[in-house]
Amino acid sequence: MGIATVNPTTLETLQSFSALTPETIQLKLAQSEAAFQSYRQTSFTDRSQWLLKAADMLENPDKSQEYAALMTLEMGKPIQEALGEVKKCAWVCRYYAEQAPLFLASQTIETDAQRSWVCYQPLGIVLAVMPWNFPFWQVFRFAAPALMAGNVGILKHASNVPQCALAIEQILLEAGFPEHVFQTLLISAQQVEMVVKDDRVKAATLTGSEPAGASLAAIAGRQIKKTVLELGGSDPFIILESADLEAAVATAVKARMLNTGQSCIAAKRFIVADAIADPFLEKFTAALSKLALGDPMSPQTEVGPLATTSILEELEQQVQTAIAHGAQVLLGGQRWSDLPGNFYQPTVLTNITKDNPIYAQECFGPVALVFRVADMKAAIALANDSPFGLGASAWTTDPQEQDHLIQHLDAGAVFINGMVKSDPRLPFGGIKRSGYGRELGIQGIHEFVNIKTVWVK
Ligand code: NAP
Repeated sequence: MGIATVNPTTLETLQSFSALTPETIQLKLAQSEAAFQSYRQTSFTDRSQWLLKAADMLENPDKSQEYAALMTLEMGKPIQEALGEVKKCAWVCRYYAEQAPLFLASQTIETDAQRSWVCYQPLGIVLAVMPWNFPFWQVFRFAAPALMAGNVGILKHASNVPQCALAIEQILLEAGFPEHVFQTLLISAQQVEMVVKDDRVKAATLTGSEPAGASLAAIAGRQIKKTVLELGGSDPFIILESADLEAAVATAVKARMLNTGQSCIAAKRFIVADAIADPFLEKFTAALSKLALGDPMSPQTEVGPLATTSILEELEQQVQTAIAHGAQVLLGGQRWSDLPGNFYQPTVLTNITKDNPIYAQECFGPVALVFRVADMKAAIALANDSPFGLGASAWTTDPQEQDHLIQHLDAGAVFINGMVKSDPRLPFGGIKRSGYGRELGIQGIHEFVNIKTVWVK
C-alpha cells in the first residue's frame, strides 16, 4: 500500500500522496541541518513559548475537533477518543514547556577539579518513525521533549496517516517554531534506511512493530547511532481473589477496548484467580457485548473499525488459528458486517494452552485472551512467560501481594488496581522484545541529548 488516506469505515481511498524523491529527501535534510545550527542557539524561553502556543492550538475547540476528525477519518479511532488524544498532546507540550529547563539544567558535581559539572546539549537531527494507532500522541510525545532540548525533528509517519503527519508539521510551524525545525517526510518504510545512514541524522526513535524496530536499530547500529524502540506488548491484567471485581471488570473492558484494541499497552492477557474466574468471565463478556460498534465519527461509538484491512485479516487469521489449536470462543470471534469497513467483533477466547500460537502473540485488535490460574505465583509465572515486557496491571487489595507483584512482574511499568496508561510525568517504555529506552518524564528528555561532562582546573 502506498502513502494514502483510506477511510477504514468505508474503505474509500480519499487521497494518495507520492513518496518524496531521493533528491527531495536530500534537500529536506539540508534544510533540517541548517535549521539546527540556528535553532540550537534559541533560549528555553523561546522554545517554551512556541510549545505553549502549540498547546493553545490543540486546545482550541474548533481546531481540536478538526484534528480529531482527521485521525478518525484516517485510522478509525472513535471520535471521543480522538478528542481525548488531542487534549493529551496539549498536556505533553505544556509539561515539557515548563519542566525542560529544570530537567536540562547543568548539575555541579564535586571532584578534584576547581569546577566540574554536567550539561545537556542537543544532538542535531533526530528521526522519528511513528505508527498510526495514536497518530498525534506518538508524535507529540517525541517532539515536545526533543524540541525543548534543542534538537530538530524529522518525522516518517505511518503510510496510512499522511494528513495527520502534515497537520502536525503545520501546527508546530504556526506555533512559531522556525521553519524546518520539525519536518514531515512522506517516505516509504524502505526509504528510512537512506535517512538513518545520512551523517546529518544523529539518532532515531521508532514506535511500531518488532520487525520495523529491529531493522531500524540494525541500520542505526552500524552507523553507531543511538535508538529508542517502543515496540509491541501483550500486557497481562492480573485479577486476584481480593480484588474489587466490579472495578476490575470495568477497567478491563476499557483497557482492552481503548482504540478498538489497537494499543501497545492495552491489556491483552487477562489472568484471573480460579476462585473468581467464573463471575469475572460472566461480567466481562456481558460488558463487552454491550459496547456500541459503528461509525467512529459518531460520538456514541465505542468500538470502531480496525485501521487497515490487513490488520483485520491478520487478526482474523490469528483467531482462526487459535481456535484450530483448541481455544474456546466465549464472545465474538468474527467480523461485524453492518458497515463495509474493517470491523471485528469484541472477542473473548479461553482455553489457550502454551502450544497455541496465540499464547505468545500480540493481538492488535478487540480480542481478549482469558487464563485461569490457581494463585498469585502462577499468575506471575504466566504473566512473565511472554516475549514482551511493556506494561502490567494487577488487581488485589492485599498490600503484601501488591509488593510481590511490583517486585516480580517483568515489565517496564506495573500499575496496581488501575490500567496501564502513559502520563507525561512518568517514564514510558518496555523491556524484552517490547524495546528499550524511555519516553516521557525526565528520562525521556535525556535520551536524545549529549550528556556532557565538564572538568575545569
Ligand atoms: P509498523 O508496521 O512497524 O509501523 C510503524 C512505523 O514503522 C510506520 O511508520 C512504518 O511505516 C514504519 N516501518 C515499517 N517497517 C519499517 C522498516 N522496515 N524500517 C523502517 N520503518 C518501518 O507497526 P504497526 O504494525 O503499524 O503498529 C503496530 C505495532 O506498534 C504494534 O506492535 C504495537 O504494539 C506497536 N506500538 C508500540 C507502542 C509503544 O509505545 N511501545 C505504541 C504504539 C504501537 P509504513 O507505515 O510506511 O510501513
